[in-house]
Amino acid sequence: MKIAVIGTGYVGLVSGTCFAEWGNRVVCVDRNAEKIAALRQGRIPIYEPDLDELVERNYAAGRLDFSCDVAKAVEGAAIVFIAVGTPPHLGHGDADLSFVYPAARELAALISSDTVVVIKSTVPVGTSDVVHRIIGTVRAAGTFAVASNPAFLREGAAVRDFLVPDRIVLGVEEEWACQRLVELYDTPIERQDTPVIITMRRTAELIKHAANAFLATKITFINELADLCEEMGSDVAELALGMGLDKRIGASLLAAGPDGSCFPKGALALLQTAQDHGVALRIVEETLAVNEARKRRMARKVTKALGGDIDGLTIAILGLTFRPDTDDMRDAPSVPLIETLQRLGGRIRAYDPVGIENAAKVLSSVDFYDDLYECARNADAVVVMTEWETIRKIDLAQLKQKLRQPVLIDLRNALDTEAARLIGFRVCAIGKSASTDSSLRDIAKQRNRQRAVKAATPKLVPVTMREK
Ligand code: NAD
Repeated sequence: MKIAVIGTGYVGLVSGTCFAEWGNRVVCVDRNAEKIAALRQGRIPIYEPDLDELVERNYAAGRLDFSCDVAKAVEGAAIVFIAVGTPPHLGHGDADLSFVYPAARELAALISSDTVVVIKSTVPVGTSDVVHRIIGTVRAAGTFAVASNPAFLREGAAVRDFLVPDRIVLGVEEEWACQRLVELYDTPIERQDTPVIITMRRTAELIKHAANAFLATKITFINELADLCEEMGSDVAELALGMGLDKRIGASLLAAGPDGSCFPKGALALLQTAQDHGVALRIVEETLAVNEARKRRMARKVTKALGGDIDGLTIAILGLTFRPDTDDMRDAPSVPLIETLQRLGGRIRAYDPVGIENAAKVLSSVDFYDDLYECARNADAVVVMTEWETIRKIDLAQLKQKLRQPVLIDLRNALDTEAARLIGFRVCAIGKSASTDSSLRDIAKQRNRQRAVKAATPKLVPVTMREK
Protein backbone atom coordinates (compact mmCIF):
# COMPACT_ATOMS: atom_id res chain seq x y z
CA MET A 1 0.00 0.00 0.00
CA LYS A 2 1.31 3.49 -0.77
CA ILE A 3 1.24 5.79 2.26
CA ALA A 4 2.22 9.41 2.82
CA VAL A 5 2.87 10.89 6.25
CA ILE A 6 2.70 14.68 6.59
CA GLY A 7 4.93 15.84 9.44
CA THR A 8 8.13 13.91 10.21
CA GLY A 9 8.48 14.54 13.93
CA TYR A 10 8.48 12.01 16.78
CA VAL A 11 5.11 10.56 15.74
CA GLY A 12 5.32 10.94 11.95
CA LEU A 13 8.82 9.47 11.66
CA VAL A 14 8.13 6.52 13.96
CA SER A 15 4.74 5.78 12.35
CA GLY A 16 5.99 6.10 8.76
CA THR A 17 9.03 3.94 9.46
CA CYS A 18 6.96 1.24 11.14
CA PHE A 19 4.42 1.23 8.29
CA ALA A 20 7.37 0.67 5.94
CA GLU A 21 8.64 -2.08 8.23
CA TRP A 22 5.29 -3.80 7.64
CA GLY A 23 5.98 -3.80 3.92
CA ASN A 24 4.23 -0.63 2.76
CA ARG A 25 5.77 2.04 0.51
CA VAL A 26 5.95 5.18 2.63
CA VAL A 27 6.99 8.76 1.97
CA CYS A 28 7.47 10.91 5.08
CA VAL A 29 7.02 14.58 4.26
CA ASP A 30 8.20 17.59 6.20
CA ARG A 31 8.41 21.25 5.35
CA ASN A 32 11.67 21.46 7.28
CA ALA A 33 14.15 20.92 4.43
CA GLU A 34 17.10 20.45 6.81
CA LYS A 35 15.33 17.59 8.55
CA ILE A 36 14.52 15.89 5.25
CA ALA A 37 18.08 16.32 3.95
CA ALA A 38 19.46 14.83 7.19
CA LEU A 39 17.13 11.84 6.96
CA ARG A 40 18.09 11.24 3.35
CA GLN A 41 21.74 11.16 4.47
CA GLY A 42 20.92 8.65 7.18
CA ARG A 43 20.96 11.09 10.10
CA ILE A 44 17.99 10.75 12.45
CA PRO A 45 16.97 14.16 13.84
CA ILE A 46 15.55 12.77 17.10
CA TYR A 47 16.80 10.34 19.72
CA GLU A 48 14.52 7.31 19.84
CA PRO A 49 15.85 3.81 20.65
CA ASP A 50 15.83 1.33 17.69
CA LEU A 51 14.58 3.93 15.22
CA ASP A 52 17.89 4.48 13.38
CA GLU A 53 18.23 0.81 12.50
CA LEU A 54 14.64 0.62 11.23
CA VAL A 55 14.98 3.79 9.16
CA GLU A 56 18.25 2.59 7.63
CA ARG A 57 16.85 -0.83 6.74
CA ASN A 58 13.63 0.43 5.16
CA TYR A 59 15.29 3.35 3.35
CA ALA A 60 17.87 0.97 1.89
CA ALA A 61 15.10 -1.42 0.82
CA GLY A 62 13.35 1.43 -1.02
CA ARG A 63 10.19 1.15 1.07
CA LEU A 64 10.79 4.41 2.95
CA ASP A 65 11.59 7.82 1.52
CA PHE A 66 11.71 11.41 2.77
CA SER A 67 10.61 14.48 0.88
CA CYS A 68 9.50 18.10 1.09
CA ASP A 69 7.29 17.63 -1.94
CA VAL A 70 3.75 17.02 -0.69
CA ALA A 71 2.25 16.76 -4.17
CA LYS A 72 4.57 13.94 -5.23
CA ALA A 73 4.29 12.14 -1.90
CA VAL A 74 0.48 12.01 -1.90
CA GLU A 75 0.11 11.18 -5.59
CA GLY A 76 -1.49 7.75 -5.73
CA ALA A 77 -1.33 7.30 -1.94
CA ALA A 78 -4.12 5.13 -0.56
CA ILE A 79 -3.75 6.70 2.87
CA VAL A 80 -2.31 10.07 3.94
CA PHE A 81 -1.57 10.56 7.63
CA ILE A 82 -1.44 14.04 9.14
CA ALA A 83 1.10 13.93 11.99
CA VAL A 84 2.00 17.60 12.32
CA GLY A 85 2.53 19.25 15.70
CA THR A 86 -0.33 20.61 17.83
CA PRO A 87 1.56 22.51 20.54
CA PRO A 88 -0.40 24.23 23.29
CA HIS A 89 -1.34 27.85 22.49
CA LEU A 90 0.75 30.26 24.55
CA GLY A 91 -1.39 31.65 27.35
CA HIS A 92 -4.44 29.40 27.33
CA GLY A 93 -2.95 25.99 26.67
CA ASP A 94 -5.45 24.55 24.15
CA ALA A 95 -4.07 22.88 21.03
CA ASP A 96 -2.78 25.12 18.25
CA LEU A 97 -4.29 23.79 15.02
CA SER A 98 -2.41 26.19 12.78
CA PHE A 99 -0.38 23.29 11.33
CA VAL A 100 -3.29 20.87 10.95
CA TYR A 101 -5.72 23.03 8.97
CA PRO A 102 -3.19 24.37 6.42
CA ALA A 103 -1.99 20.78 5.88
CA ALA A 104 -5.62 19.73 5.26
CA ARG A 105 -6.16 22.62 2.82
CA GLU A 106 -3.00 21.68 0.94
CA LEU A 107 -4.04 18.04 0.77
CA ALA A 108 -7.52 18.88 -0.47
CA ALA A 109 -6.09 20.05 -3.77
CA LEU A 110 -3.51 17.27 -4.11
CA ILE A 111 -4.88 13.90 -3.01
CA SER A 112 -5.90 11.27 -5.52
CA SER A 113 -9.45 10.04 -5.74
CA ASP A 114 -10.43 7.60 -2.95
CA THR A 115 -7.70 8.66 -0.57
CA VAL A 116 -8.22 8.25 3.17
CA VAL A 117 -6.85 11.22 5.10
CA VAL A 118 -6.09 10.17 8.66
CA ILE A 119 -5.46 12.55 11.56
CA LYS A 120 -2.73 11.08 13.75
CA SER A 121 -1.93 14.32 15.54
CA THR A 122 -3.56 14.81 18.93
CA VAL A 123 -6.39 17.22 18.21
CA PRO A 124 -9.43 18.63 20.00
CA VAL A 125 -12.63 16.63 19.59
CA GLY A 126 -14.35 17.64 16.36
CA THR A 127 -11.16 18.51 14.43
CA SER A 128 -11.52 15.56 12.02
CA ASP A 129 -15.02 16.81 11.20
CA VAL A 130 -13.58 20.24 10.37
CA VAL A 131 -10.87 18.64 8.23
CA HIS A 132 -13.62 16.68 6.44
CA ARG A 133 -15.42 19.95 5.69
CA ILE A 134 -12.17 21.63 4.52
CA ILE A 135 -11.43 18.85 2.03
CA GLY A 136 -15.13 18.70 1.08
CA THR A 137 -15.01 22.28 -0.19
CA VAL A 138 -12.60 21.12 -2.93
CA ARG A 139 -13.38 17.41 -3.47
CA ALA A 140 -16.71 15.80 -4.25
CA ALA A 141 -18.36 13.91 -1.40
CA GLY A 142 -17.66 10.18 -1.52
CA THR A 143 -14.31 10.56 -3.31
CA PHE A 144 -12.33 10.88 -0.08
CA ALA A 145 -12.65 9.98 3.59
CA VAL A 146 -11.29 11.50 6.77
CA ALA A 147 -10.48 9.32 9.76
CA SER A 148 -8.98 9.67 13.21
CA ASN A 149 -6.23 7.28 14.37
CA PRO A 150 -4.63 8.74 17.50
CA ALA A 151 -1.03 7.93 18.39
CA PHE A 152 -0.46 6.21 21.73
CA LEU A 153 3.31 6.35 21.68
CA ARG A 154 5.63 6.95 24.60
CA GLU A 155 8.83 8.68 23.58
CA GLY A 156 11.74 6.45 24.48
CA ALA A 157 9.63 3.38 23.74
CA ALA A 158 7.83 4.63 20.63
CA VAL A 159 8.98 1.92 18.20
CA ARG A 160 7.92 -0.83 20.58
CA ASP A 161 4.63 0.93 21.29
CA PHE A 162 3.93 1.20 17.57
CA LEU A 163 4.88 -2.38 16.69
CA VAL A 164 3.33 -3.95 19.78
CA PRO A 165 0.41 -1.69 20.63
CA ASP A 166 -2.14 -2.25 23.39
CA ARG A 167 -4.88 -1.32 20.93
CA ILE A 168 -5.53 0.48 17.67
CA VAL A 169 -8.27 3.10 17.66
CA LEU A 170 -9.86 3.90 14.30
CA GLY A 171 -12.43 6.67 14.09
CA VAL A 172 -13.82 6.13 10.63
CA GLU A 173 -17.31 6.52 9.26
CA GLU A 174 -17.08 5.22 5.66
CA GLU A 175 -17.16 1.46 5.08
CA TRP A 176 -14.53 1.46 2.30
CA ALA A 177 -12.14 3.66 4.31
CA CYS A 178 -12.58 1.44 7.34
CA GLN A 179 -11.70 -1.64 5.29
CA ARG A 180 -8.53 0.02 4.04
CA LEU A 181 -7.36 1.04 7.52
CA VAL A 182 -8.15 -2.39 8.91
CA GLU A 183 -6.12 -3.90 6.06
CA LEU A 184 -3.19 -1.62 6.92
CA TYR A 185 -3.15 -2.61 10.57
CA ASP A 186 -4.66 -6.08 10.47
CA THR A 187 -1.96 -8.47 9.39
CA PRO A 188 0.95 -7.27 11.50
CA ILE A 189 -1.02 -6.83 14.67
CA GLU A 190 -3.55 -9.63 14.19
CA ARG A 191 -0.80 -12.07 15.10
CA GLN A 192 -0.52 -10.41 18.46
CA ASP A 193 -4.25 -10.37 19.16
CA THR A 194 -4.22 -6.59 19.37
CA PRO A 195 -7.76 -5.25 19.65
CA VAL A 196 -8.84 -2.78 16.96
CA ILE A 197 -11.53 -0.39 18.15
CA ILE A 198 -13.60 0.97 15.29
CA THR A 199 -15.70 3.94 16.22
CA MET A 200 -16.89 7.39 15.15
CA ARG A 201 -14.24 10.04 14.48
CA ARG A 202 -15.26 12.10 17.52
CA THR A 203 -15.13 9.11 19.84
CA ALA A 204 -11.63 8.23 18.63
CA GLU A 205 -10.47 11.78 19.36
CA LEU A 206 -12.15 11.65 22.76
CA ILE A 207 -10.51 8.30 23.62
CA LYS A 208 -7.07 9.87 23.21
CA HIS A 209 -7.85 12.76 25.59
CA ALA A 210 -9.74 10.62 28.07
CA ALA A 211 -6.83 8.14 28.23
CA ASN A 212 -4.32 10.96 28.82
CA ALA A 213 -6.52 12.58 31.45
CA PHE A 214 -6.95 9.25 33.24
CA LEU A 215 -3.19 8.63 33.23
CA ALA A 216 -2.59 12.17 34.51
CA THR A 217 -5.04 11.42 37.32
CA LYS A 218 -3.26 8.18 38.16
CA ILE A 219 0.14 9.87 38.40
CA THR A 220 -1.30 12.76 40.36
CA PHE A 221 -2.94 10.34 42.77
CA ILE A 222 0.32 8.57 43.56
CA ASN A 223 2.12 11.93 43.82
CA GLU A 224 -0.33 13.10 46.48
CA LEU A 225 0.07 9.81 48.34
CA ALA A 226 3.85 10.33 48.17
CA ASP A 227 3.34 13.53 50.16
CA LEU A 228 1.33 11.59 52.72
CA CYS A 229 4.02 8.88 52.92
CA GLU A 230 6.65 11.52 53.64
CA GLU A 231 4.62 12.88 56.55
CA MET A 232 3.81 9.50 58.09
CA GLY A 233 7.10 7.69 57.48
CA SER A 234 5.85 5.24 54.81
CA ASP A 235 7.51 4.35 51.51
CA VAL A 236 5.58 5.31 48.38
CA ALA A 237 7.46 2.78 46.20
CA GLU A 238 6.27 -0.07 48.40
CA LEU A 239 2.79 1.43 48.57
CA ALA A 240 2.73 1.57 44.75
CA LEU A 241 3.91 -2.00 44.49
CA GLY A 242 1.20 -3.18 46.86
CA MET A 243 -1.43 -1.26 44.90
CA GLY A 244 -0.16 -1.91 41.39
CA LEU A 245 -0.06 -5.68 41.64
CA ASP A 246 -3.85 -5.53 41.84
CA LYS A 247 -4.66 -6.19 38.16
CA ARG A 248 -7.58 -3.76 38.30
CA ILE A 249 -5.11 -0.99 39.12
CA GLY A 250 -1.98 -2.01 37.18
CA ALA A 251 1.64 -1.31 38.03
CA SER A 252 2.50 1.26 35.39
CA LEU A 253 2.53 5.01 36.10
CA LEU A 254 2.57 4.53 39.84
CA ALA A 255 6.05 6.00 40.20
CA ALA A 256 5.80 9.23 42.16
CA GLY A 257 7.83 12.07 40.72
CA PRO A 258 7.95 15.75 39.83
CA ASP A 259 4.74 15.92 37.77
CA GLY A 260 2.48 14.15 35.29
CA SER A 261 4.74 14.83 32.25
CA CYS A 262 2.80 15.27 28.97
CA PHE A 263 -0.49 13.83 30.22
CA PRO A 264 -1.79 17.09 31.70
CA LYS A 265 -1.92 18.44 28.13
CA GLY A 266 -4.48 15.72 27.33
CA ALA A 267 -6.32 16.42 30.56
CA LEU A 268 -6.55 20.09 29.64
CA ALA A 269 -7.87 19.25 26.17
CA LEU A 270 -10.54 17.02 27.71
CA LEU A 271 -11.50 19.70 30.20
CA GLN A 272 -11.88 22.27 27.45
CA THR A 273 -14.06 19.91 25.39
CA ALA A 274 -16.23 19.27 28.45
CA GLN A 275 -16.54 22.99 29.19
CA ASP A 276 -17.55 23.66 25.56
CA HIS A 277 -20.36 21.17 26.09
CA GLY A 278 -21.39 22.50 29.50
CA VAL A 279 -20.19 19.42 31.37
CA ALA A 280 -18.14 19.63 34.59
CA LEU A 281 -15.19 17.24 34.96
CA ARG A 282 -14.21 18.01 38.53
CA ILE A 283 -11.67 15.21 38.94
CA VAL A 284 -9.81 16.34 35.83
CA GLU A 285 -9.92 19.97 36.98
CA GLU A 286 -8.46 18.99 40.35
CA THR A 287 -5.78 16.81 38.72
CA LEU A 288 -4.56 19.77 36.70
CA ALA A 289 -4.51 22.07 39.71
CA VAL A 290 -2.64 19.55 41.88
CA ASN A 291 -0.16 18.88 39.10
CA GLU A 292 0.55 22.59 38.67
CA ALA A 293 1.11 23.05 42.40
CA ARG A 294 3.49 20.09 42.39
CA LYS A 295 5.96 21.91 40.15
CA ARG A 296 6.34 24.61 42.84
CA ARG A 297 6.58 21.96 45.55
CA MET A 298 9.60 20.36 43.86
CA ALA A 299 11.56 23.64 44.02
CA ARG A 300 10.59 23.98 47.71
CA LYS A 301 11.87 20.44 48.31
CA VAL A 302 15.27 21.36 46.90
CA THR A 303 15.56 24.62 48.83
CA LYS A 304 14.40 22.93 52.06
CA ALA A 305 17.06 20.22 51.67
CA LEU A 306 19.63 23.03 51.47
CA GLY A 307 18.42 24.80 54.60
CA GLY A 308 15.88 27.15 52.99
CA ASP A 309 18.21 29.59 51.23
CA ILE A 310 19.96 28.66 48.00
CA ASP A 311 21.23 32.12 47.05
CA GLY A 312 24.76 31.64 45.68
CA LEU A 313 24.67 27.86 46.01
CA THR A 314 25.50 25.56 43.09
CA ILE A 315 23.05 22.81 42.23
CA ALA A 316 23.82 19.94 39.87
CA ILE A 317 20.78 18.67 37.98
CA LEU A 318 21.08 15.09 36.68
CA GLY A 319 18.74 14.50 33.73
CA LEU A 320 16.88 17.18 31.81
CA THR A 321 14.56 15.48 29.30
CA PHE A 322 10.93 14.82 30.26
CA ARG A 323 11.65 11.09 30.47
CA PRO A 324 14.63 8.82 29.81
CA ASP A 325 15.51 7.57 26.29
CA THR A 326 14.34 10.69 24.52
CA ASP A 327 15.91 14.04 23.67
CA ASP A 328 12.55 15.81 23.94
CA MET A 329 12.44 18.77 26.32
CA ARG A 330 8.77 19.66 25.75
CA ASP A 331 6.87 19.47 29.06
CA ALA A 332 10.09 18.57 30.89
CA PRO A 333 9.65 19.37 34.60
CA SER A 334 13.36 20.18 34.77
CA VAL A 335 12.63 23.51 33.04
CA PRO A 336 10.28 25.09 35.64
CA LEU A 337 12.42 23.62 38.43
CA ILE A 338 15.65 25.11 37.07
CA GLU A 339 14.02 28.47 36.35
CA THR A 340 12.63 28.66 39.89
CA LEU A 341 15.97 27.70 41.45
CA GLN A 342 17.69 30.36 39.33
CA ARG A 343 15.16 32.98 40.48
CA LEU A 344 16.04 32.06 44.05
CA GLY A 345 19.72 32.69 43.34
CA GLY A 346 20.88 29.14 42.63
CA ARG A 347 23.62 28.46 40.08
CA ILE A 348 22.80 25.52 37.85
CA ARG A 349 25.04 22.86 36.34
CA ALA A 350 23.21 20.16 34.38
CA TYR A 351 23.90 16.73 32.91
CA ASP A 352 21.90 14.81 30.32
CA PRO A 353 23.16 12.02 28.04
CA VAL A 354 21.28 13.20 24.90
CA GLY A 355 19.11 16.20 25.79
CA ILE A 356 21.67 19.01 26.10
CA GLU A 357 21.22 20.38 22.58
CA ASN A 358 17.46 20.78 23.00
CA ALA A 359 17.79 21.91 26.63
CA ALA A 360 20.15 24.71 25.61
CA LYS A 361 17.35 26.10 23.40
CA VAL A 362 14.95 26.53 26.33
CA LEU A 363 17.23 27.19 29.32
CA SER A 364 19.67 30.02 29.86
CA SER A 365 22.61 30.56 32.24
CA VAL A 366 23.05 26.82 32.76
CA ASP A 367 26.44 25.08 32.51
CA PHE A 368 25.88 21.81 30.64
CA TYR A 369 27.97 18.65 31.03
CA ASP A 370 27.94 15.31 29.26
CA ASP A 371 29.79 13.71 32.18
CA LEU A 372 27.69 13.40 35.32
CA TYR A 373 30.60 13.39 37.76
CA GLU A 374 32.02 16.57 36.19
CA CYS A 375 28.57 18.09 36.48
CA ALA A 376 28.58 17.40 40.22
CA ARG A 377 32.03 18.93 40.82
CA ASN A 378 31.89 21.43 43.74
CA ALA A 379 28.09 21.49 43.73
CA ASP A 380 26.23 22.02 47.00
CA ALA A 381 23.59 19.48 46.06
CA VAL A 382 22.72 17.04 43.34
CA VAL A 383 19.13 16.67 42.09
CA VAL A 384 17.99 13.63 40.08
CA MET A 385 15.36 14.79 37.57
CA THR A 386 15.28 12.05 34.89
CA GLU A 387 15.95 8.38 35.59
CA TRP A 388 18.39 7.68 32.74
CA GLU A 389 20.19 4.34 33.04
CA THR A 390 23.53 6.18 33.40
CA ILE A 391 22.09 8.02 36.40
CA ARG A 392 20.56 4.90 37.95
CA LYS A 393 24.00 3.26 37.76
CA ILE A 394 25.86 6.20 39.27
CA ASP A 395 28.76 5.40 41.62
CA LEU A 396 27.55 7.11 44.80
CA ALA A 397 30.98 7.19 46.44
CA GLN A 398 32.56 8.87 43.38
CA LEU A 399 29.64 11.30 43.23
CA LYS A 400 30.08 12.23 46.88
CA GLN A 401 33.79 12.93 46.37
CA LYS A 402 32.96 15.51 43.69
CA LEU A 403 30.40 17.44 45.72
CA ARG A 404 31.06 20.36 48.05
CA GLN A 405 28.18 19.22 50.27
CA PRO A 406 26.85 15.63 50.23
CA VAL A 407 23.21 16.53 49.58
CA LEU A 408 21.22 14.23 47.31
CA ILE A 409 17.68 15.09 46.24
CA ASP A 410 16.25 12.19 44.27
CA LEU A 411 13.01 13.40 42.66
CA ARG A 412 12.59 10.10 40.74
CA ASN A 413 13.46 7.61 43.45
CA ALA A 414 16.01 6.31 40.98
CA LEU A 415 18.93 5.74 43.38
CA ASP A 416 19.51 3.53 46.38
CA THR A 417 18.88 6.19 49.00
CA GLU A 418 19.70 3.87 51.88
CA ALA A 419 23.15 3.15 50.43
CA ALA A 420 23.60 6.90 49.90
CA ARG A 421 22.75 7.61 53.55
CA LEU A 422 25.14 4.92 54.72
CA ILE A 423 28.07 6.63 52.97
CA GLY A 424 27.18 10.00 54.44
CA PHE A 425 24.77 11.68 52.03
CA ARG A 426 21.95 13.84 53.37
CA VAL A 427 19.13 12.40 51.30
CA CYS A 428 15.75 13.71 50.29
CA ALA A 429 13.60 11.43 48.10
CA ILE A 430 9.98 11.32 46.98
CA GLY A 431 7.44 9.68 49.23
CA LYS A 432 9.78 8.52 51.93
CA SER A 433 11.29 10.15 54.98
CA ALA A 434 14.74 9.64 56.47
CA SER A 435 13.30 7.04 58.85
CA THR A 436 11.72 4.97 56.06
CA ASP A 437 14.85 3.30 54.75
CA SER A 438 15.67 1.39 57.87
CA SER A 439 12.08 0.30 58.46
CA LEU A 440 12.30 -2.95 56.46
CA ARG A 441 14.66 -5.85 56.69
CA ASP A 442 17.01 -6.33 53.70
CA ILE A 443 15.41 -9.59 52.63
CA ALA A 444 11.98 -7.95 52.31
CA LYS A 445 13.42 -5.06 50.30
CA GLN A 446 15.25 -7.42 47.96
CA ARG A 447 12.04 -9.41 47.29
CA ASN A 448 10.00 -6.27 46.72
CA ARG A 449 12.52 -4.90 44.26
CA GLN A 450 12.49 -8.13 42.25
CA ARG A 451 8.70 -8.06 42.13
CA ALA A 452 8.67 -4.42 41.09
CA VAL A 453 11.02 -5.15 38.19
CA LYS A 454 8.90 -8.12 37.10
CA ALA A 455 5.68 -6.10 37.28
CA ALA A 456 7.18 -3.26 35.23
CA THR A 457 8.63 -5.38 32.39
CA PRO A 458 6.13 -5.89 29.54
CA LYS A 459 6.45 -8.79 27.07
CA LEU A 460 7.80 -7.94 23.63
CA VAL A 461 6.26 -10.04 20.88
CA PRO A 462 8.43 -9.88 17.78
CA VAL A 463 6.74 -8.69 14.61
CA THR A 464 7.93 -10.19 11.38
CA MET A 465 8.02 -8.13 8.25
CA ARG A 466 6.16 -8.88 5.10
CA GLU A 467 5.78 -7.26 1.71
CA LYS A 468 2.42 -5.69 0.89
P1 NAD B 1 6.90 17.38 16.16
O1 NAD B 1 6.83 18.80 16.48
O2 NAD B 1 8.06 16.56 16.63
O3 NAD B 1 6.82 17.18 14.58
C1 NAD B 1 5.89 17.81 13.77
C2 NAD B 1 6.51 18.00 12.38
O4 NAD B 1 5.51 18.45 11.49
C3 NAD B 1 7.63 19.03 12.35
O5 NAD B 1 8.82 18.42 11.85
C4 NAD B 1 7.11 20.12 11.38
O6 NAD B 1 8.14 20.69 10.61
C5 NAD B 1 6.14 19.32 10.54
N1 NAD B 1 5.10 20.10 9.86
C6 NAD B 1 4.28 21.03 10.36
N2 NAD B 1 3.41 21.47 9.43
C7 NAD B 1 3.71 20.79 8.29
C8 NAD B 1 3.17 20.77 6.97
N3 NAD B 1 2.13 21.55 6.63
N4 NAD B 1 3.72 19.95 6.06
C9 NAD B 1 4.77 19.15 6.39
N5 NAD B 1 5.30 19.11 7.62
C10 NAD B 1 4.79 19.92 8.56
O7 NAD B 1 5.54 16.75 16.70
P2 NAD B 1 5.30 15.28 17.33
O8 NAD B 1 5.87 15.19 18.70
O9 NAD B 1 5.67 14.25 16.32
O10 NAD B 1 3.72 15.32 17.51
C11 NAD B 1 2.86 15.25 16.41
C12 NAD B 1 1.45 15.08 16.94
O11 NAD B 1 1.33 13.83 17.62
C13 NAD B 1 1.04 16.14 17.97
O12 NAD B 1 -0.32 16.39 17.80
C14 NAD B 1 1.29 15.46 19.29
O13 NAD B 1 0.49 15.99 20.32
C15 NAD B 1 0.89 14.03 18.97
N6 NAD B 1 1.52 13.01 19.82
C16 NAD B 1 2.83 13.13 20.15
C17 NAD B 1 3.40 12.12 20.93
C18 NAD B 1 4.85 12.23 21.31
O14 NAD B 1 5.27 11.42 22.14
N7 NAD B 1 5.62 13.13 20.76
C19 NAD B 1 2.66 11.01 21.34
C20 NAD B 1 1.34 10.91 20.95
C21 NAD B 1 0.78 11.93 20.18
